Amino acid sequence: MATIHPIPAFSDNYIWLLDNGDGSALVVDPGDAAPVVAALAEHNLTLAGILITHHHFDHVGGLGTLKDEYACPVYGPANGAIQGIDHSLGDGDELRIGAYNFQVITVPGHTLDHIAYFQREPEALLFCGDTLFAGGCGRIFEGTPEMMHQSLQRLAALPEETAVYCAHEYTLANLAFARAADPANSALQQRELDAQALRARDTPTVPSTIALEQATNPFLRSALPALREALPQGNSLTADDSVGIFAALRAWKDEF
Ligand code: ZN
Ligand code: FE
Repeated sequence: MATIHPIPAFSDNYIWLLDNGDGSALVVDPGDAAPVVAALAEHNLTLAGILITHHHFDHVGGLGTLKDEYACPVYGPANGAIQGIDHSLGDGDELRIGAYNFQVITVPGHTLDHIAYFQREPEALLFCGDTLFAGGCGRIFEGTPEMMHQSLQRLAALPEETAVYCAHEYTLANLAFARAADPANSALQQRELDAQALRARDTPTVPSTIALEQATNPFLRSALPALREALPQGNSLTADDSVGIFAALRAWKDEF
């Protein structure tokens, strides 16, 4: 049974600490080194590997310090702009490391280099950085809406029980928008109540599951008539224009 701890960083990032069960751990997207060092000490673990999803500073900022301190291998996208990656990963690559066995999925959109780490067995896990968020998705900074839509569709097709570990606690803001985009969705209303209760106790809302995202995340549901009708553009978009509808939904969230 994998033990995965959130390490809060900056104002709303989660750096994920994956315990290998042998006194060592992996870390995903260490934007800052100090909280990782503190968490490793707290759990009496040494660092055996670093996994990176994309090049943004809040995901790689602690990489150099941690690599110097622990001399551990660093895995990440094939992006020469990220200093310190030892092993570049591309779509379909297998990464067996520590207690985990990941498959790499390229998910361009938020950035062009963005990758996600998926484990199917023994427990289905997904580390998806800033691509799929709990109740939302990342902003499209470098890619196109078509890329982001396709990337999210690939993640949505993973097994329903997959635990989804995203890199930010954006859930309440995402769900407030989701309520506007999908106003009649009762599962979404319940999710918002659940998330509010968690945040009131200062508890992470992450991980979620693919099943919960399929039921409540508007960016996985944009093809449904109810979502198209709720858009500011409404029915000016045709039902078969799935990318246009997704782009309009993402643009609405950018302004929300
Ligand atoms: Zn980012
Ligand atoms: Fe980020």
